[in-house]
Amino acid sequence: MYKKVTTDLNFAAREQDVLALWRDNKIFEKSIELREDAPVFTFYDGPPTANGQPHIGHVITRAVKDLFPRYRTMKGFRVLRKAGWDTHGLPVELEVEKQLGISGKPEIETYGVEPFIEKCKESVWKYESLWREMSERVGYWADMDAPYVTYQNNYIESVWWALSEIWKQGLIYKSYRVVPYCPRCGTPLSSHEVAQGYKDVTEDSAYVCFRVADRDEYLLAWTTTPWTLPSNVGLCVNAKEEYARISQNGRVYIMAAALAADVLGEGYEILETLKGKDLEGLKYEPLFDFASPEIAANNPNYCTVVCDNYVTLTDGTGIVHIAPAFGEDDARISKAYNLPLLQLVDAQGCFIKDAYLWTGKFVKDADPLIIKELANRGQLLKKSAYTHNYPFCWRCHTPLLYYARDAWFIKMSEMRDKLLSSNDAVNWLPGHMKEGRFGNWLENAADWSLSRERYWGTPLPIWICDNDDCGHRHCVGSIAELKSLNPDVPDDIELHKPYIDAVKLPCPKCAGAMTRTPEVIDCWFDSGSMPFAQWHYPFENEDMFKQQFPADFIAEGVDQTRGWFYTLMAISTLLFGQSPYKNVIVTGLGLDEKGQKMGKSLGNAVSPLDALTKHGADAVRWFMYVNSAPWNNFRYSDDTVNEGARRFMGTLWNTYAFYVLYAEIDQFNP
Ligand code: ZN
Ligand code: ZN
Repeated sequence: MYKKVTTDLNFAAREQDVLALWRDNKIFEKSIELREDAPVFTFYDGPPTANGQPHIGHVITRAVKDLFPRYRTMKGFRVLRKAGWDTHGLPVELEVEKQLGISGKPEIETYGVEPFIEKCKESVWKYESLWREMSERVGYWADMDAPYVTYQNNYIESVWWALSEIWKQGLIYKSYRVVPYCPRCGTPLSSHEVAQGYKDVTEDSAYVCFRVADRDEYLLAWTTTPWTLPSNVGLCVNAKEEYARISQNGRVYIMAAALAADVLGEGYEILETLKGKDLEGLKYEPLFDFASPEIAANNPNYCTVVCDNYVTLTDGTGIVHIAPAFGEDDARISKAYNLPLLQLVDAQGCFIKDAYLWTGKFVKDADPLIIKELANRGQLLKKSAYTHNYPFCWRCHTPLLYYARDAWFIKMSEMRDKLLSSNDAVNWLPGHMKEGRFGNWLENAADWSLSRERYWGTPLPIWICDNDDCGHRHCVGSIAELKSLNPDVPDDIELHKPYIDAVKLPCPKCAGAMTRTPEVIDCWFDSGSMPFAQWHYPFENEDMFKQQFPADFIAEGVDQTRGWFYTLMAISTLLFGQSPYKNVIVTGLGLDEKGQKMGKSLGNAVSPLDALTKHGADAVRWFMYVNSAPWNNFRYSDDTVNEGARRFMGTLWNTYAFYVLYAEIDQFNP
């Protein structure tokens, strides 16, 4: 009646038998088939990228993601678990660039866009088998045989539908704006991408002397980005604050009175105080002559003092240098005062020919050279080391530049109230996320910088009339629509660059032809579209979409509050006016035993398969469930996992072995 079991504690080996039993008998598949008419519990799987290796943090999200669907299944619910793969975007392109030994857009163009995207398509699957192995070994039940894949035509078509719906609402626009821009990748990034890449850095800031035009006095400005100085067109003061003319070592400076002691130290004399307003309109000499004669001839406001309330006296000199090509406030103020635009930096982040002193230099490398040049000319009061939180590209770690570009946006700033009311219906674990980290993010939602000047992504389906006088724009929402506008489009057209770029459409407003705008979109829009795109909705599977929307449960790491959690929320609020999920568990980060972040480069990363082979999945999962709440960061160590396994699983197993032995002897019938 009872099957005697061994008392050894070799759990990892026994788990292999369980996995084989599940596999051979298709237990996961049966857990769904046998519940045909059961109530549905919906889970969305956030798509990982299979061109990167899984790490121990993925084991915790998979352990948590498995726990609730499994419990619901045991309670009689039908729980589909469609796996997904996030396959587009910079992570893939960078991997392929590395593989081909090329870097940057010009080299990709030389290599050829078509072979490049074909390489991207292959590279996407690089670690798929490793992910499958890890997922199976950890006991994660998911349908990995029919996953959604964001690069497939059906998926892209659903994303196109979503974009065309948002377009119809008038919420997509193109604008020449200062955007966070990665000079290596050659593309703007969105605020949720930027939020993922901040690092503390210490750099030299500069106190710079701008000579007043008609007298030997100097406006003293402070900047943390010396490379923007050659593109200076104005200086900005706060009209209401008090400024002073100050004499020190035979020179006269103009700066905020309250900051004089901080900046000048001791031994100066205040000659006169005046309001910022009194400085408005004061002309000064351009710092560099790179483009000045031409610009000055065309714009009388070039190199003038202007006023704006954004200037504060918390640090610096109370005078801010204005370079409208490289700052949002700079651009706004320049527009208000009709200052010219001076852009001396190219799309790779290097100085152009006009800036002859540093032509070809990457701007960050030019910083010390610019400071030195100013010092040689007597226009540097001093430099000082300054530590600030600076954004880096989340993929390639190049420092981002704020840079004026043409880019496409979704007006999320108009959606803030709707986002907040969608969020009202969500149960966050831990609860403070709702109004804290996530709610704050929604309250301040910036317009979504949607376009990427890259290759491997969902093409932005907006066609623009070639005739400049017409300029008509149309957003295409399906393959059928594309074919109805141009019957030559083949049935099996692939919705990727460069193929889709060849499709011309007739302009309905004039006799001209329309060409697709060259950009692809932010890959985070793809993953946020999975609630409907995984079903190729609205083209197919309307019943499945409706049955599976919104999700009862999702879980991912804390970094996703500005990633997937946000883009899911943003897109479903735009399209369906509601949150696509009801309950979220935000998991913490995996740290090493000393509490340090794990990383390949730090040499302390734990290989998930090693851990699972050594301890077994139950031991690792048990550790993760009981160590602390899943939203706390956890310190992973072999000893702790072992200890937990010995205490709980050892006790349980020994008790069971004892019970089986004596129940058999006694022929106990419960
Ligand atoms: Zn980059
Ligand atoms: Zn036209």
